[in-house]
Amino acid sequence: TDGMNAQDLAKVLHRPAAEIVKKLFMLGVMVNQNQSLEKDTIEILAADYGIEAKEKVQEDIADLDRFFDVADQDEAKLVSRPPVVTVMGHVDHGKTTLLDNIRHSHVTAQEAGGITQAIGAYQVNYNDQVITFLDTPGHAAFSEMRARGANITDITVLVVAADDGVMPQTIEAINHAKAAETPIIVAVNKVDKPGANPDNVTTQLTEYGLIPEDWGGDTIFVQISAKFGKNIDELLDMILLQAEMLELKANPDQRAVGTVVEAQLDQGRGPVATLLVQQGTLHVGDPIVVGNTFGRVRTMTNENGRRIKEATPSTPVEITGLNAVPEAGDRFVVFEDEKTARAAGEERAKRAQDEERARTSHVTLDNLFATM
Ligand code: GDP
Ligand code: MG
Repeated sequence: TDGMNAQDLAKVLHRPAAEIVKKLFMLGVMVNQNQSLEKDTIEILAADYGIEAKEKVQEDIADLDRFFDVADQDEAKLVSRPPVVTVMGHVDHGKTTLLDNIRHSHVTAQEAGGITQAIGAYQVNYNDQVITFLDTPGHAAFSEMRARGANITDITVLVVAADDGVMPQTIEAINHAKAAETPIIVAVNKVDKPGANPDNVTTQLTEYGLIPEDWGGDTIFVQISAKFGKNIDELLDMILLQAEMLELKANPDQRAVGTVVEAQLDQGRGPVATLLVQQGTLHVGDPIVVGNTFGRVRTMTNENGRRIKEATPSTPVEITGLNAVPEAGDRFVVFEDEKTARAAGEERAKRAQDEERARTSHVTLDNLFATM
């Protein structure tokens, strides 16, 4: 609309230009037919003719973020989805032991025996409810993901060993969770150990604003032994309670969008990516853009390496069929057709390349001047 004058407007509205000028005069705008009009003026005038002057929105095909804008989600289509839980804490405080214990004590009967976890995420069925656990992705990976706006965790379980107390990575984990605005559930671990002092851990954590309910705060604390399976069910109960309070919802009836948990190149299968579906349902065959890569979902497997055909919100799946390896924290979006997906993927790759080139050539110039 920039530079539009009364004459242009007359053409668009199929009215004589003189009439437009007269109308504008009535609205208190004194212009001749060739003077360009303000956007507001055009809108008012158009409205006067019963036309909504909508600016033509140029859709940016390479912009994946717009698909994550849930503000306009139809409330009626939202159904509750499983919580996505990340276990964090200082090294050796028992994260892996806890994840293993949960996984092995809550697999379904048909899966029990001989299961090997194939991907860095899994789901358990507990009291007829599903919980998704992400393997603790190392704090660096976690902050990298967060820096890129990929908040995929709903709840952080903070593991603190009762015989060791709050340590540097404990504090890091608290900061990550706070920055990501995810609620923290404290799992005071190794309470079976002779040197365990759970109260000491609790006292230390109050300094970071994590105060248990019976001390007047609102943080959930559970004293566990990951190794001996003590209070693991209580911890799961608390996760479900916290999840209920968060009222987590998603729309399964749309094209899937979500985030890459991890990705690598497999000798035989090509690029392989573990995706967390966040909205919609992902299907085998879906045309997809993942970060700066694209393709069609060729195969989809769950955490047990079993082939599946579709994945609903909060489900982690491993897919093949991409043209390149995306990065952890990349977003993925299913497109209406393969052609559009390819166009979007190629455009994204090109932009990433241009950015990289601009960045490196800048460095080169700097170096050049520095040596002169
Ligand atoms: P991570 O580095 O946080 O993943 O810690 P791990 O799960 O690898 O555990 C570190 C060590 O602590 C291992 O030797 C575990 O067997 C041990 N451990 C973990 N949880 C417990 C527990 O509840 N009680 C005892 N006694 N040892 C534990
Ligand atoms: Mg570990």
